[in-house]
Amino acid sequence: MTHKTNGLFYDGQSSASQKIELFFDTDKKVLFFENRNGERQNWILIDTIVNINGQILNFQHGDNPVQSINIEEKDFVSYLILFRKNSGHINWYQKLIGMGFKAHVVLATLILGIVGLSYIYAIPWVAEKSVVLIPKEYDDDLGSMFFKQNMIFNNIDIHKTNALNQFAKELKLNNTKKLKFTVVNSSVVNAFALPDGNIVVFSGILDSMNSYDELVGLLGHEVAHVNNRHSMKMLCRNLSGYIFVSAILGDVNGIMAVVGDNVNTLQSLSFSREFERQSDLEGFEILSTNKINPYGMLNLFKRLQEEEQDISMPEFLSSHPVTIERIKFIKKLIQTRPFYFTDNPKLKTLFKEIKQ
Ligand SMILES: [Zn+2]
Repeated sequence: MTHKTNGLFYDGQSSASQKIELFFDTDKKVLFFENRNGERQNWILIDTIVNINGQILNFQHGDNPVQSINIEEKDFVSYLILFRKNSGHINWYQKLIGMGFKAHVVLATLILGIVGLSYIYAIPWVAEKSVVLIPKEYDDDLGSMFFKQNMIFNNIDIHKTNALNQFAKELKLNNTKKLKFTVVNSSVVNAFALPDGNIVVFSGILDSMNSYDELVGLLGHEVAHVNNRHSMKMLCRNLSGYIFVSAILGDVNGIMAVVGDNVNTLQSLSFSREFERQSDLEGFEILSTNKINPYGMLNLFKRLQEEEQDISMPEFLSSHPVTIERIKFIKKLIQTRPFYFTDNPKLKTLFKEIKQ
């Protein structure tokens, strides 16, 4: 069947229009007409781009030059729209054009959303996973780098450091690498673990403790951060913008260079909720293995949380966040996991020495 209508043809070379009689062969799906020179033109429907602007239907054809036809006759316009819909000859691009401005806004928002989400989630995720590319020996290099560059180690308390190392020796810490403990004299209420297994405890957090089981809770938590390479993972995550491409390309040297440049952030690294939970759980298991009262861990966190209300937030809470949630989690562990504890006089004595 052939439909006929009137239209204006633009040859793409001159801005003047040509009045034409346009035919549409519904079987062959071809538009044909004669131009002003009497030459017959055949446009296959699926090779044309169809735009609908209000009442005007516009066909575009070819690319050098782009030729076009405008049609205003309502019946033909609605017939053609229906025909294209039913024949399924609309590709996604043409569908989109047909949907108009709103669809473009939706699509643009969608694309921006995907880009935004990948920036927030995918890139840090890839960066965090890139930690498997970094050789484990580099954890040790990074720890020594931090140790050399950091002024805090000018204030090591040798007596307390010795006592803390002896205290730790009494415990099964499920450690995957050799651990070293350092006490730094400072009123800062904090402790942190370096990737090389050096666990640094400030005298400020020791001062806030009442019993040795609290200290075991803290050490257990920090050891879990070391065992799971959390600080290296967090560094990679925080620097994901810089190391993403290196991570994708597997460029280990590039990743290590960026991580090394940021070694000083290890002390104030704020861990994710997921890492804190994992360390609290594994810390709890360490308490359990050593027959230590798990309420020690709970009491320490509760007290730090209370201190937060009085003065400025202790550093431990800002670098190991989500405390209310963590307190609830430990309470739940105490309620649901079996544990057995005994008094440990040796730890008690060493704890006294550490507190002196
Ligand atoms: Zn932590």
